[in-house]
Amino acid sequence: MTGVVLRSTGSWYEVQTDDGNIFQCRTRGKLRLAGVKTTNPIAVGDIVEFDREGDTNTGVIHQIQPRENYIIRKSIKNKNHGHIIASNLDQVMLVATISYPRTSLGFIDRFLVSAEAFRIPQIIVFNKSDLLNDEEQKKLEKYIAIYKNISVTCLVCSAEKNEGIEPIKKILKGNKTLISGHSGVGKSTLINRIDPALKLKTSEVSDFAEKGVHTTTFAEMFPLDNDTFIIDTPGIKELGLIDIEEEEISDYFPEMRDLIGECKFHNCKHIHEPGCAIQEAVDNGEIAESRYKSYLSMIEDSDNRR
Ligand code: GDP
Ligand code: ZN
Repeated sequence: MTGVVLRSTGSWYEVQTDDGNIFQCRTRGKLRLAGVKTTNPIAVGDIVEFDREGDTNTGVIHQIQPRENYIIRKSIKNKNHGHIIASNLDQVMLVATISYPRTSLGFIDRFLVSAEAFRIPQIIVFNKSDLLNDEEQKKLEKYIAIYKNISVTCLVCSAEKNEGIEPIKKILKGNKTLISGHSGVGKSTLINRIDPALKLKTSEVSDFAEKGVHTTTFAEMFPLDNDTFIIDTPGIKELGLIDIEEEEISDYFPEMRDLIGECKFHNCKHIHEPGCAIQEAVDNGEIAESRYKSYLSMIEDSDNRR
């Protein structure tokens, strides 16, 4: 049988088949995909082949299908390994707020850069539109202009007032979407608006979940229907990047990537160098100041890490 991994509690995996049935699966023997050193051989979002055990709802996984993509971060337990947060994603969605609490542009850009490094399309949902005063409304429009300019889909909603939810449902439909956002932005309220049944599902404590109480679950996937899934990542503040090289950072800013070949020096870091196409684009307004500032701050972090 074939199914998708919804969540893992260490040694058990919850797997949903195409017809919507759910199986609790274990693995037998070593299962590792070539090339990736990870603490979790099977991740949320993986498509796995398993043998059902008789007529039960349990099974044994014997194969993982190659991943189309994955988001990985450094393992907390083992520094030389990665921990795959989720795989086979169609897109990532960041829930942000202009105020109460304020999501900084630096935070948004880091999120986008991480997703871009994994080649995963990005969506920003600006929640709490009901709270905006005139000044904040202008700020929202400015932010949307910045991100539309680099082809990031922007949506505005009020989860509280149940406004702007339909376009979000539409963009999720038929996709696997990882949803992120720092605490307080209304991610849970929004997810419950998208599917009111989910609240029940998440608060249910099944026997299966109790067994896994001592293992950390990083991500959990919820089916909205047979081909629509959202992945919640409680406790993950940033997607993070494994060993991103300083020279690579500009590759993950799409508006910079397009200009890199035009700098005078091929090893240009786009900071003080003469003849830099990127500094020029910032000066003439083609690249947003805030985006360039985020770039500089990521370069600085990378210098500090060395
Ligand atoms: P999470 O930490 O991102 O999951 O945030 P919650 O969903 O728990 O929401 C945090 C707080 O923001 C709660 O008090 C919600 O009622 C409130 N909230 C969520 N969405 C909205 C919204 O669209 N407008 C307003 N005014 N408050 C909201
Ligand atoms: Zn340059």
